[in-house]
Amino acid sequence: MIVNLVSDTVTKPTPAMQDAMWRAEVGDDVFGEDPTVNALEAKCAGMFGHEAALFCPSGTMANQIALKVHTRPLDEVICDEMSHIYQYEAAGYAFHSGIGVNLLKGENGILTADLVEAAIKPRQHWLPKSSLVVLENTCNKGGGGIYPMENIRAIRQVCLQHGLSLHLDGARIFNALVETGDTPADIGAEVDSISICLSKGLGAPVGSVLIGSKDFIAEARRFRKVMGGGMRQAGYLAAAGIYALDNHVERLRDDHAHAHMLAGTLSQLDWVESIRPVQTNIVIFDLKPPLTAVQVLGQLLQQGIKATAFGPRTIRFVTHLDVTREMVEKTIEVLSRES
Ligand SMILES: *Cc1c(COP(=O)(O)O)cnc(C)c1O
Repeated sequence: MIVNLVSDTVTKPTPAMQDAMWRAEVGDDVFGEDPTVNALEAKCAGMFGHEAALFCPSGTMANQIALKVHTRPLDEVICDEMSHIYQYEAAGYAFHSGIGVNLLKGENGILTADLVEAAIKPRQHWLPKSSLVVLENTCNKGGGGIYPMENIRAIRQVCLQHGLSLHLDGARIFNALVETGDTPADIGAEVDSISICLSKGLGAPVGSVLIGSKDFIAEARRFRKVMGGGMRQAGYLAAAGIYALDNHVERLRDDHAHAHMLAGTLSQLDWVESIRPVQTNIVIFDLKPPLTAVQVLGQLLQQGIKATAFGPRTIRFVTHLDVTREMVEKTIEVLSRES
């Protein structure tokens, strides 16, 4: 039995999801004629209380399109230093949008309104123009922490006062929502645009959705095309997304319970230095020197457990749809034996 804790992107479509995919009615989406893509877009827009949505091949493309539509060259985006848009999108903000990035140090990737307000630059022609704030909920590099709704509301007010747009990188927004009990519409009301990933814990093989106003999405559609993301019979993929939204949201709680079980074991091991607070499906922990992540990952791999390094002495575990209770128990057994 191989236990893959590398990422929640490694999930494979379940038989029922595959069935939904094969049964999908499709058409040419570049002409707006794929009924399943249209249904997915309408579903997502409706859920989050926005007018429109756009099916994209990846979360990176959805975020990059959002940056492009919300900014002009020589602007800057304000975000936490742990943000996916800064860390893991290959400096696309500079490449596609010609903008700078104003990095803030929040707490495990979570910003406050005060931090954001203090970072907004005065309007001077020699300064970058602060035009966009991006929040990430949950924050991956921060350890899957949930953004408190008060912070989002307060940051929203700051954005409104200063004329900035607010984009939410919601790759794992449903991991946050199942814990807080807030609805997608609650969070949708606080932001100008949202990107969600269908291919993480929700278990679809491909796809993300960008959500916003009609005008925003009309522009976004142009940029998706120029980035090469206009797909044809994409309904086969959209059907997996619809299935995931209908069937795989509530069960994210199981992944969270599994993450807590792993963290509980780690907290008792004398070779583990510290664990970031676990709120959802991500467990990030530091090893006591002289142990290195490479050493520990090598030992785990020999026992059939795969995970990734998040620093020289830092390891990340991610639980997901394809990690069963049995696999978690096996991991706990292996970890306990390593002590
Ligand atoms: C995974 C992820 C994305 C997008 O990733 P893709 O691999 O391009 O689909 C964006 N933001 C966050 C926070 C993510 O974890």
